[in-house]
Amino acid sequence: MNNYKHILLAVDFSEHGKQVSSKALDMAQRNQSKLSLVHVVENLPITDAAYGPIPFDVDLTQEWLDASKERLGKMGIELGVPEQQQWLEMGSAKMEIVRVAEENGVDLIVVGSHGRHGLALLLGSTANGVLHHAKCDVLAVRLTDD
Ligand code: AMP
Repeated sequence: MNNYKHILLAVDFSEHGKQVSSKALDMAQRNQSKLSLVHVVENLPITDAAYGPIPFDVDLTQEWLDASKERLGKMGIELGVPEQQQWLEMGSAKMEIVRVAEENGVDLIVVGSHGRHGLALLLGSTANGVLHHAKCDVLAVRLTDD
């Protein structure tokens, strides 16, 4: 089997994320590959009724991006991934993950089988989308309830 040279870990900061990141780190160490991180800011939570009415002139995009950058940076420190290999993107998670992989010569994308959307589906929608669109190998780390 060929060694993977560049592994991209897709992080969504969900509670199961640690299982996915330790698997990616383990794969990177065994293969002596470069490890990069990607997080995609999709839609902002202000559309959620639970947050209550929010004035139209409030733009939380920058705050949200800053908070995500900080979390990604912390994860980078934990996993030993330098800042230039941490990608923070906006848009559709599956499309951005695939784009970052293609543009950076990634040969393995690591995702969790499920993320913040829970275990309702057999395979989460982002994981499924990445599997369908990626031109490289994809490892979906199986996450269970227990
Ligand atoms: P989902 O399919 O949304 O349940 O999420 C499955 C996996 O896709 C997660 O465990 C992450 O690895 C990845 N993922 C989901 N959303 C994002 C996101 N916004 N940015 C980066 N990776 C994500």
